[in-house]
Amino acid sequence: MTARRLLLASPRGFCAGVVRAYDILDEVLRREEPPVYAFHEIVHNRYVVREFEKRGAVFVDSIAEVPEGARLVFSAHGVSPQVRAEAEAKRLRVIDATCPLVTKVHLEAKKAAREGFDVVLIGHEDHEEVEGTRGEAPERTTVVDSPAGVATFAPADPGRVFVVTQTTLSVDDTRDVIDAIRARWPGAQIRNDICYATENRQEAVRAIARRAELVLVVGSENSSNSNRLREVAAAAGARAYRIDSVEDIQDEWLAGVSTVGLTAGASVPDVLLDRVVAFFRARGVVEVEEVPVAEETQVFALPEELSPR
Ligand code: SF4
Repeated sequence: MTARRLLLASPRGFCAGVVRAYDILDEVLRREEPPVYAFHEIVHNRYVVREFEKRGAVFVDSIAEVPEGARLVFSAHGVSPQVRAEAEAKRLRVIDATCPLVTKVHLEAKKAAREGFDVVLIGHEDHEEVEGTRGEAPERTTVVDSPAGVATFAPADPGRVFVVTQTTLSVDDTRDVIDAIRARWPGAQIRNDICYATENRQEAVRAIARRAELVLVVGSENSSNSNRLREVAAAAGARAYRIDSVEDIQDEWLAGVSTVGLTAGASVPDVLLDRVVAFFRARGVVEVEEVPVAEETQVFALPEELSPR
């Protein structure tokens, strides 16, 4: 291995919405006897989920799996009104860890549908966030994930088209889909809901990818924003791989590489990235450089019932 320099994208790792969701489940597990149920993975990171499981969290994908009256935490990705209603019907004691920036998209979609708009939701069909947002107005919402997909959308009134997006999309790809919608329905009302954390992490990985031959993105397979970071790095010209943890690094990736770029998705705890830094230091990397592109100060408060006592 020849790598001598490691570039660290900044910002990287946990965003404010993930910190809040993590802290909510952490606090509930401190205060209450297990099991504590969580609807879907609290954040899309295997390590985080396993650590919570060790402490008595039980992750479920349907309300049917949760016993009557149990404690249930909704994940950062949000849930549909139907899931809320099912939880209420079972008298579950719900604490909502939905990121406020996801809630904002739900409110936009709901209001638009109520006002008679057909809603285009730009996002990935099978993602939990999209499942939740679409659930606000399923009969009026079409999910689209590419410019070609725009052709599948047929609004009842071409003058009343409303566009929202998943929060963790590629900024560049989303621009292409929005352009295709604008070309077809010039009067469409468009909300680009890609969040500050997604935008900043993509800009940061682009900055390191321009200077590194190899970029590693720490993040789980089901993490949308981590997958987008890998794509952005590759589009900027670096060889890019997503890894769950340091164990996934393959020696052949490192052959002939002198500068490695490193970042982590918004659901990745620092410990996983620190292990990768330690791996490279142990193999002769002498220079570790932070490459900052933005400063983040966003903080989301915990729900009142979990505020510090
Ligand atoms: Fe919220 Fe954005 Fe973080 Fe998702 S990535 S939890 S929308 S801040």
